[in-house]
Amino acid sequence: MYQDHIYELTPKKWEWFAQDVLFHLGFSVVVGPSEGVDEGMDLIVEIKRNEENYKYLVSCKHPYKSKKNVGVRQESDIRDRVEQHDCNGFIAFYSVGATSGLKKKLYALQQKGIDVIEIYLDDVLDIIPTMRGYTLQKYFNAPQKLYHHIVEGTDYKPLICKGESCDKDILTQENIPWSLAGFYIDDANTVHFVYGCKHCVANYCNHPYWAEISQIRYVEQMQMWNSIIEDVSISKGLVLASDYFKDAFTLQHAMLQIQIPQGWGRWI
Ligand SMILES: [Zn+2]
Repeated sequence: MYQDHIYELTPKKWEWFAQDVLFHLGFSVVVGPSEGVDEGMDLIVEIKRNEENYKYLVSCKHPYKSKKNVGVRQESDIRDRVEQHDCNGFIAFYSVGATSGLKKKLYALQQKGIDVIEIYLDDVLDIIPTMRGYTLQKYFNAPQKLYHHIVEGTDYKPLICKGESCDKDILTQENIPWSLAGFYIDDANTVHFVYGCKHCVANYCNHPYWAEISQIRYVEQMQMWNSIIEDVSISKGLVLASDYFKDAFTLQHAMLQIQIPQGWGRWI
């Protein structure tokens, strides 16, 4: 989803981005990208653990043209560089992955007491949605427009409408505005969790709380929605359907695929 936009960043921007991501993860910056003039050192960050400061040498690699995994040859003398800069550990911050050769080498370093943290493309893609919109805006134009869908991804899982004999995926770009999630209380006062096309399930949802799928795409809204799901589940006088939480989790999990990060605006 952001992958293409990541490869539009220049290598210098990638270093600045690394600094922001590491800061977001709780590190403080000792030497920033603009100051790092030494060969083989992009930045140095620090984190406090058990009352002790740990310093890491960060290597940023951004092969935005080749998109090839970083290999042993591109990361020479890691141990020397770590020691030279008086660090305890090494952070690989790559917009790709690492070759198995390099991974072995990093593992060996770890065995020798150098703390190694690996942050590869997949990790970055997971971290981005947890970052603040104003930080991301420094690197990506109109970040909200990045948000289509991860349909291109191979492991995309559709969320099929719960309406009878409807097999629509409510997470497609076209269906999102016409879809909702809510609660259905049957004659036995059992509460069921429901999601689907509005015209399929809206009549069903006889509980006052419901949510537009287009709304709960926003992380903040999803958090509110999750607390509503909890609240409804402990409502007095209602019996919980056996698959209530299973269905709620299915929705939550599917929504992650189209979630819009914090601070990226409000629903329309
Ligand atoms: Zn439907």
